[in-house]
Amino acid sequence: MTVSSNKITTAAEVESFLSQYDDFLFDCDGVLWQGDVLLPSVVETLDLLRSQNKRLIFVTNNSTKSRQAYTKKFAKFGLTVTKEEIFGSSYSSAVYLSKVLKFPKDKKVLVIGESGIEEELTNAGIQYIGGTDPAFNSEVPADGIDKLEHDPSIGAVLCGLDLHINYYKIAHAMMQLNTPDQETLFLATNIDSTYPSHGKLLPGAGTIVGTLETCTGRKPVALGKPSSAMMDCIKAEFEFNPERACMVGDRLNTDMVFGTKGGLGTLFVLTGVDNEASIFAENRVASPKFYIDKLGSLYELLHG
Ligand code: PLP
Ligand code: CA
Repeated sequence: MTVSSNKITTAAEVESFLSQYDDFLFDCDGVLWQGDVLLPSVVETLDLLRSQNKRLIFVTNNSTKSRQAYTKKFAKFGLTVTKEEIFGSSYSSAVYLSKVLKFPKDKKVLVIGESGIEEELTNAGIQYIGGTDPAFNSEVPADGIDKLEHDPSIGAVLCGLDLHINYYKIAHAMMQLNTPDQETLFLATNIDSTYPSHGKLLPGAGTIVGTLETCTGRKPVALGKPSSAMMDCIKAEFEFNPERACMVGDRLNTDMVFGTKGGLGTLFVLTGVDNEASIFAENRVASPKFYIDKLGSLYELLHG
């Protein structure tokens, strides 16, 4: 792979970069904020882009929150962002089920995950069981597991990050997925191996998805970055020209692969999981078109 990432370091380079794109897709954690800390000059940079009539779309793999809940997170940081501008992996899973798969109204989804998935499925009019239901989260006696069997009314298992994952939920999902005809769909909101939390990395949704893969021998359709299924859902909703759109992110194997595969430009920032060495490493999985110290430098280089 040839080294092709260009570092943006001057006002003229910012102007040239901005002139190439109309639509900006932003990863959130590691680009706009780190956990509970807003990164410098993010407010000013988003204002700058809006003043130039750029369209902003916020794309996150975090399945634990719905779009509605994410607007509150933005508001807490003083960022005015509408629900419609947010595209989370729980929302993309709901869009994929309802619009792409035309999931039957009389079937249910078995949810392994948090309220973000439940809220998005409810908004899309899709029935579900599992999730945060206490019946799936309290201690289940051994004979409760023994009684588990395939339920033909369950049309799909949707797995995201579940902070209360337990053996019963895994066994329940396995019963639905392990049938000879494999007719129950297997979907994952995202397959991130880890996610950042308070300066550390914790096991991501991919850890739980991997557990289900192990006991079923099946691979899910993943709806988060870098899956093209997520990009298809975003394109279906926003209709943009990929050549005039730029994916901004901090992680090569999710954000930068996602943008590259989708035919978008890519801007890599050095405020998240990967670092400058990652984009020049021999075994790198993507070469961002541009990179910059932090998102806020777009504003600071122009107005600093
Ligand atoms: N999954 C979870 C549970 C998270 O909390 C996060 C980040 O906060 C992510 C995934 C990655 O999110 P993003 O795609 O915004 O970096
Ligand atoms: Ca990120």
